[in-house]
Amino acid sequence: MSYRSTSYWFDSIGSEPEARSALPGDRDVDIVILGAGFSGLWTAYYLSIADPGCNIAVIERDVAGFGASGRNGGWCWPEVAGMQTYLAEDPDGASRLRDAIIATVYRVGEVCEQEGIEADYKLVGGIGIAADELQATRARQVIAETRAYGISEDDHYWLEPDELRKHIRVADAVGGTFQNHVAAVNPAKLARGLAQAVEKRGVKIYEQTTVTGVEPGRVQTSHGTVRASRIVMAMNAYKAKLSSHKRDIIPVYENMIATEPFSDEVWDEIGLQTRGLFADRRRVFTYAQRTADNRIAIGGRTPRFHYGSRVDPSLDQSARAKRELANALRSMFPQLGDFEITHHWGGPIAMARDLATRICMDPKTGIGGVGGFMGEGVAASNLAGRTLCDILLERESELTSLPWVGKRSPRWEPEPLRWLGVNLGIVLHNVADSYEYRTHRPARFLDYMIDRLGNLGM
Ligand SMILES: Cc1cc2nc3c(=O)[nH]c(=O)nc-3n(C[C@H](O)[C@H](O)[C@H](O)COP(=O)(O)OP(=O)(O)OC[C@H]3O[C@@H](n4cnc5c(N)ncnc54)[C@H](O)[C@@H]3O)c2cc1C
Repeated sequence: MSYRSTSYWFDSIGSEPEARSALPGDRDVDIVILGAGFSGLWTAYYLSIADPGCNIAVIERDVAGFGASGRNGGWCWPEVAGMQTYLAEDPDGASRLRDAIIATVYRVGEVCEQEGIEADYKLVGGIGIAADELQATRARQVIAETRAYGISEDDHYWLEPDELRKHIRVADAVGGTFQNHVAAVNPAKLARGLAQAVEKRGVKIYEQTTVTGVEPGRVQTSHGTVRASRIVMAMNAYKAKLSSHKRDIIPVYENMIATEPFSDEVWDEIGLQTRGLFADRRRVFTYAQRTADNRIAIGGRTPRFHYGSRVDPSLDQSARAKRELANALRSMFPQLGDFEITHHWGGPIAMARDLATRICMDPKTGIGGVGGFMGEGVAASNLAGRTLCDILLERESELTSLPWVGKRSPRWEPEPLRWLGVNLGIVLHNVADSYEYRTHRPARFLDYMIDRLGNLGM
């Protein structure tokens, strides 16, 4: 299999990644981590620093970074899924979580610097684009909500059209937002570099090894059994493939495309001189990055959920998603004219029933991990890794007291309800977007239905 074609980011590394060797048979270790994406690698990284004598193994079915970690939009941003829930349940905890996640964006950059990881990390800020008054109202509401957990006016603010144009020149925009503490990164370079840093500190990464079953003290794999008193599940969306975890999260597919590199003249017309990140403000939104080699990588707009929570490489790409992303780009930037799409890829994110990312560790079974990363795991996985490190080493800390630790999300409904509910939700969001686009009126009735649908069965 060519891993280079997994995403533009993998391709940009410039050579086919060589897979590490598989588990060479049964092994005893102190801690075993399942999955070498950001969650697994950050956990291994911080554990190896905090307890250099700890015998740690990471088991990866493909190669490090193969999952969402090597395929995402490269927004390293201060977001944690479930913040609204935490704010309602524990406002103090929510603002501590917010402070921690803001600091985390900088931590990722610091580790890149310290470990010599060339991941094109750059603090650029995130731009939100409002295409009409409804999107502008929604954007202002989001800014007001973030004030509730202590985000200041200097850190997330409204841009009038002329201010927006200083950052980016988008057709028909009525304004936008600017968010500080956001960095652009090449996620595959980050994941591959992090795996090397982890290995250098004595962690053993076994690739080409599939986890087939997990029970207290034992992990069964395609190449033998790993015995460990503590097991960290860091497979995010792929966890749905394990029958015992089928209803913990659902895998939802996202697609991205990357264009050819654009000339300086084209960038003079578009703006984004700081290699910026931008997103639109639809309900089913797009997010994009000007890459280090001057392309646009853009994703979003067409999430897909497959019956029975199927996860398979054959589902990664959707021709419709490719078309819609190209159209989104054309309507934002008519000045691009004809452009070539050089890369198209996709991958699964995990969605918990309450849309919240959670960290847990059951002291009785020794099994725990992190689950429910949607579109915010690039930074949040670092915070999760540091938190899991403290939990595994039984250290009580500020991190272990954050509100995403210790609670479990409700389980998803069995099929066919799950498939019907999730896809109806996706359709309602899309219909609401096109209704609002056509009429410039808020789709309140659809909001009501989306809300009712979300609460059914919980
Ligand atoms: C298209 C797309 C765009 C995104 N954009 C952004 C963004 O801009 N910013 C942001 O913050 N987040 C974004 N995300 C989300 C982000 O990528 C994830 O939240 C994050 O990468 C999750 O990391 P992870 O390590 O938990 O999971 P993953 O990276 O999915 O890692 C799980 C690992 O487990 C391995 N695995 C699976 N099954 C097995 C098995 N049976 N045995 C052994 N190993 C196994 C997989 O191969 C994989 O390497 C995006 C995601 C996608 C798909």
